[in-house]
Amino acid sequence: MNDTWTIQAALDWTQGYLERKGDENPRLSSQWLLSEATGLSRIELYAHFDKPLSMGERDTLRAYVSRRGSGEPLQYITGEVGFRHISVKVKPGVLIPRPETEVLVSEGLAALPAPPKRIAADAFESDALRESDGRPDAAHGLAGSGLHGGGQDGAPEDAPEAQPVDEVIPEERRELLVADLCTGSGCIACSIAYEHPETRVIATDIASEAVSLARENAEALGLSDRIEVLEGSLGEAVPSGLVGSFDLVISNPPYIPTAVLAEIPKEVADFEPSLALDGGDDGLDLFRPLALWSARALRPGGTLAVELHETCLDEAAAAAKDAGFAVTTIVEDLTGRPRVLVARKGCG
Ligand code: GLN
Repeated sequence: MNDTWTIQAALDWTQGYLERKGDENPRLSSQWLLSEATGLSRIELYAHFDKPLSMGERDTLRAYVSRRGSGEPLQYITGEVGFRHISVKVKPGVLIPRPETEVLVSEGLAALPAPPKRIAADAFESDALRESDGRPDAAHGLAGSGLHGGGQDGAPEDAPEAQPVDEVIPEERRELLVADLCTGSGCIACSIAYEHPETRVIATDIASEAVSLARENAEALGLSDRIEVLEGSLGEAVPSGLVGSFDLVISNPPYIPTAVLAEIPKEVADFEPSLALDGGDDGLDLFRPLALWSARALRPGGTLAVELHETCLDEAAAAAKDAGFAVTTIVEDLTGRPRVLVARKGCG
């Protein structure tokens, strides 16, 4: 082995090794692992091709490459994944967020009254704002103190001088209440709170590893004042006083039908928790009680949005109608497969 192992040599070696191990995207994996081992961004790697790796970086890289070579998902090794507008920490024992769940979040957000425009715009100035005060400004929302100018047209620079919160929040605006059941990493709860500053989210999970990870993620994003994570199955841990007042119940429950579970990729089967995947014989074991609980938990006119297996949507829509939902819509994911059920509770 060369004494000086440059970034370029390490990238080539990693890519070749992972290719032989059957990695579907060895080039991308090698970039992510090198980036993680050196602390350089993927772009910076290319600007430092000739830089030699330190002994420590080499050892770290070898450990990462051996994990990836044995099939461990990249995201468990790097410890994070991008999800919509945020980055979420992930770890073994908790499901890795997937792109189809980003579609679920879109549907959930679309079901809520839009936030005032000024606040919505602020939510997407995220990076600059997060760097300046450690959390997205949007997180001030209703729960915090910095709500500026709701409904007014002043420039953002005027905001610090804005009037006290009581005077700028129109009387009729209230906090929207959201339940995210089977939250896992908390990616849904965090995205909703991050993208919609007037929400308060109660997130639940039966797995304690998930509960602590979701709390960690909410904390890291500066959203823990609006996200409460509780341990329990479905709605079991939700305070009974809140039942009947939710605007949105959103969930990515375990939904893979048991027969399909036998065919899922080895990388998923061997490394991700089956508790987060197995939906029972027809994939709806969790959905049915979830729909029944939601029918009680939502306020009239509230929305249930659930991610499901592509083969289960029609049956789920029928089950939602049986549970008392008035209107149901099936939404496709980015690959064109039926994926999300949106069900609205009647107002009567
Ligand atoms: N979309 C995931 C997968 O196919 C399943 C997630 C779930 O069961 N909630 O691996």
